[in-house]
Amino acid sequence: MAGEVEKLQELVDNYDNIVFFGGAGVSTESGIPDFRSQDGLYHQKYDYPPETILSHTFFMRKPEEFFKFYRDKMLCDTAKPNAAHRKLAELEAAGKLKAVITQNIDNLHQMAGSKKVLELHGSVHRNYCMKCHKFYDFAHIKASTGVPRCECGGIIKPDVVLYEEGLDNQTINEAVKAISEAQVLIIGGTSLAVYPAAGLIDYFRGEHLVVINKSPTPRDRYADLLIQERSDRYLRRFTVDGKIL
Ligand SMILES: [Zn+2]
Repeated sequence: MAGEVEKLQELVDNYDNIVFFGGAGVSTESGIPDFRSQDGLYHQKYDYPPETILSHTFFMRKPEEFFKFYRDKMLCDTAKPNAAHRKLAELEAAGKLKAVITQNIDNLHQMAGSKKVLELHGSVHRNYCMKCHKFYDFAHIKASTGVPRCECGGIIKPDVVLYEEGLDNQTINEAVKAISEAQVLIIGGTSLAVYPAAGLIDYFRGEHLVVINKSPTPRDRYADLLIQERSDRYLRRFTVDGKIL
């Protein structure tokens, strides 16, 4: 264990183009349920499986039911950044970390102070009228009932990538650029099961791949540092001035 922390610390000390690629595991400590874990959303009881509800087709056909689920399960306004979010923000401020690429939609990296956050799956904090594109914030949707409507009458849609929907091109391009230019790529809190997001890892050409995830990932055998633990436990332990906490 100690050796793993020291090795991670060494990478942080020696490189200044680090990119972090993260997923649900980064936010579980903050109280955001992991979609795919045993006690996550997919195993909770609902009329339809979450994968069905969170699809484009379902949103268009049954918006009332979509928003009922979405408000209940996806809009967590009590979550606070944890040690992993804070450490990554510190690393960026110190000029070590160039980007956080996340599959999460919870805004916790930004709340921790990260500036360059590429949200592959969008954010629950952005919502747009489908007709006039007027912006609505998190609180507006949280406080709304039924299908939230814009003052123009259009339905307000969360800026979240639903199943069957493609990722935003500009976000993908920026993520590819960051990953392909990185010296060190840290993959944390993701089992890399969701495509096309997980495929972005293929663009990494750098020197060191670090994988921090509790369960196995398809990239484990390519990692030169593999830590099978929760990401926040490790990320909190290295420092930007070379002193292990
Ligand atoms: Zn509108």
